[in-house]
Amino acid sequence: MAIRPIITLPDPRLRLVSEPVATFDGELQLLLDDMLETMYEAPGVGLAAIQIAVPKRIVVADATRGDEPKNPMFFINPEIVWVSEELFVYQEGCLSVPDYFEDVQRPARVRVRYLDRTGATQEIEADGLLATVLQHEIDHLEGGLFIDHLSRLKRERVVKKFAKAAARAAPVADKVEA
Ligand SMILES: [Zn+2]
Repeated sequence: MAIRPIITLPDPRLRLVSEPVATFDGELQLLLDDMLETMYEAPGVGLAAIQIAVPKRIVVADATRGDEPKNPMFFINPEIVWVSEELFVYQEGCLSVPDYFEDVQRPARVRVRYLDRTGATQEIEADGLLATVLQHEIDHLEGGLFIDHLSRLKRERVVKKFAKAAARAAPVADKVEA
């Protein structure tokens, strides 16, 4: 297992639409294990493959908190098949938009159909934190970010902040004019 680098805003790969997984081979198992280790190390409660620059429809999650025993979950080609009318507000953050948190309103409960690590079809009905995590991560598979759910003003402010930080971090040679 290995910890892989997490890409952050404004990396354009975060806007890619990820491709479905078709092959359940050793390479996939390795990717799943790396994603889990990367998520735990960050630490985060969910991670989509595109966040480590792999445009595949894979999500790992663990919505347990504090001293609860770990519950790693793997969702391959996940699809939301039902959402509740009831909504819930969670203060969300994202490993790809570090150190920025904002309230996001989403359905309180969702049903998700997915393939497990062996390729078998599964369905889960999630509520609470897991419902939010699944919706947040499945957004990533479509090139979405939680900031897309905010007002335009808030979104533009955070996008600008990250673009400026990236420009500052760029090597000086990039700025030479001739
Ligand atoms: Zn995220």
